[in-house]
Amino acid sequence: MSKIFTPESLGELHADGKLFGVIGFPVQHSLSPIMHAAAFEKLGLKAQYVPVEIPPEKLRETVALMAKKPFAGWNCTLPHKIELAKLVDELAESAQKLGGVNTVLNDNGRLVGFNTDGEGWVRAIREEFSLDVRDLRILILGAGGAGQALAKQAALERCEKLVLVNRTEEKVRELASSLAPYFDTQKLMGADARLKVVPWDETLIAKELDQIDLLVNATSIGLKASDAAVLPARILQPHLCVYDTIYRPAKTRLLAAAEEAGARGANGLSMLLHQGALSFEIWTGQSAPLMAMRQALKKAVNI
Ligand code: NDP
Repeated sequence: MSKIFTPESLGELHADGKLFGVIGFPVQHSLSPIMHAAAFEKLGLKAQYVPVEIPPEKLRETVALMAKKPFAGWNCTLPHKIELAKLVDELAESAQKLGGVNTVLNDNGRLVGFNTDGEGWVRAIREEFSLDVRDLRILILGAGGAGQALAKQAALERCEKLVLVNRTEEKVRELASSLAPYFDTQKLMGADARLKVVPWDETLIAKELDQIDLLVNATSIGLKASDAAVLPARILQPHLCVYDTIYRPAKTRLLAAAEEAGARGANGLSMLLHQGALSFEIWTGQSAPLMAMRQALKKAVNI
């Protein structure tokens, strides 16, 4: 485990080579330091990647400090993605469209914010199922930070159909209104059928699944060992691809339910990998060594 820095202890940091990091609160759960260290080592780059825990009230001053330290770039995890977007000098198109920043590039003191979460997920779906998000009828459970980013990315890709389900329905209704313009063109179905909000109700969800290719769990149900599957095997169907954004445990209850139903399933490790690989490419201009990064992640989560 890498030493965790704080706004107060950043002064003790003496980088040997380029400096990168991940900011969050808390940050000790992040696997990014392990993944990026493996990438730097594989390519023989002299660089260090450190976790920095920043309480929300210290975000502004610490970001200014990190720009001068100097960090060449950093990742950002909960709960800072939205606030960070207000603190950078420029937002790349990905961050403008997804509405938060998970990657910062320090271009000689000028901070550029990117969001690689959406594209990382698209690559993960391609890798896991050999499918393109734009061709799919997708149902996303959850509309927190992750669910919103994935729904926006699915809309940007102009996927065939998007069904949004969240326990707090008003949250997902707002999201759907903001995405409506992406679904106003004819694809195979009319506009109304292409974007839908469905209540958190097992019977209604089960009915929707007849016309869905990709089911995504973007809720936090499954993180705790005591959690039941977010949806039971009896309503899943063999034609579904099931993507659980959770990767610890590797076989979540939902993935076990998918297997029982004869459906294909994959966990969120590939999403973590690909968002990280895209960050790496933004910072270094080099292709990320995916194999080394994946191995480091798998080792860290005991797969
Ligand atoms: P948030 O806290 O922002 O959102 C949590 C979501 O889960 C909300 O939609 C919430 O619904 C829902 N939820 C929580 N408890 C329940 C419940 N008991 N019943 C129904 N719905 C519930 O978290 P994030 O969006 O940041 O993270 C969501 C998941 O995505 C996590 O499991 C996280 O591990 C995963 N993730 C994976 C990543 C990866 O790289 N693989 C990256 C980022 C996240 P409501 O709105 O009603 O509260």
